[in-house]
Amino acid sequence: MVVMATKRQKCTKCSKGSVYLRVYSGEHLCRDCFKSSIIEKTRRTISKYGMMKHGDTVAVAVSGGKDSLSLLEVLSRLTSVHGEKIVAITVDEGINEYRDEAIELSRKMVSKLGLELEEVSFRSLFGFTLEEALDMRSDQRVSACSVCGVLRRRAIDLAAEHMGADVVVTAHNLDDFLQTYFINLTNGDIGRLEFLNPGFEAQIDIPRRVKPFIEIYEEEIAFYAYLSGIPFQTLPCPYMDEGIRTEIRSFLNNLERRHPGIKYSTFNTALKLTANPLLPRRRSRRCERCGHPSSDTICSTCKTIQLIRNSHL
Ligand SMILES: [Zn+2]
Ligand SMILES: [Zn+2]
Repeated sequence: MVVMATKRQKCTKCSKGSVYLRVYSGEHLCRDCFKSSIIEKTRRTISKYGMMKHGDTVAVAVSGGKDSLSLLEVLSRLTSVHGEKIVAITVDEGINEYRDEAIELSRKMVSKLGLELEEVSFRSLFGFTLEEALDMRSDQRVSACSVCGVLRRRAIDLAAEHMGADVVVTAHNLDDFLQTYFINLTNGDIGRLEFLNPGFEAQIDIPRRVKPFIEIYEEEIAFYAYLSGIPFQTLPCPYMDEGIRTEIRSFLNNLERRHPGIKYSTFNTALKLTANPLLPRRRSRRCERCGHPSSDTICSTCKTIQLIRNSHL
């Protein structure tokens, strides 16, 4: 819930006019102090979990939405201080119109920041677009989001490897984290919990994957993008899955409205639980077909591609 304060209210930090009331902390913030608080929180998260090291090449996965474009902008400010090299990656899944707009927004932001951009597409990497893959699939229970998610992840990894990246950065925020956490709690798959912990590092998963916005509420990132004049895609994906994630999202937002700060305290509980040594550990191994890290003998990318190709034969 974004609470816009009136201009007459003074900023708690500098006494300029406030534009935002951070309900869970009681702070009134002016435009500059709000923006600085997001940049500073990102810097602290990176340092707290050791997400980047000096001299790293950092590949940022940019979708064209508010989270990834804001992240790119924030990181480019931070790394000019810390010396990491930032590169950007966009993936064209092949979703007509929707993706074209997002790629254009990503290109503009990357060029404004003077960064390098690696563009990859499902068609060039896998031989089909997402739309073609969905038409080909025989089993309609396999959702568009699960096919897209698995292939996007691989596309990002391949692009990052191609750019010589040490770290892959994604723009998942605190709300995304909590939604995935609750989905895992409800589907009985306790083995996935450890992957959620920001300190988790698979032994053979290179480059590392990190989420510098993981301690920031989604609504605050949206407000950061708005205050910074970052143009982003607002059109929802035509394949968006209105599944349990949407219900959990609104459940958590309702709780937060009535109990400000409850998302943070739930996040802190989740951090402890996902780092608990009593959780079953999945052995890191390599996929027998493609050699990428996998928790099974055949990785989810190879299984997905097989499913699509088989149903086409
Ligand atoms: Zn201020
Ligand atoms: Zn594989």
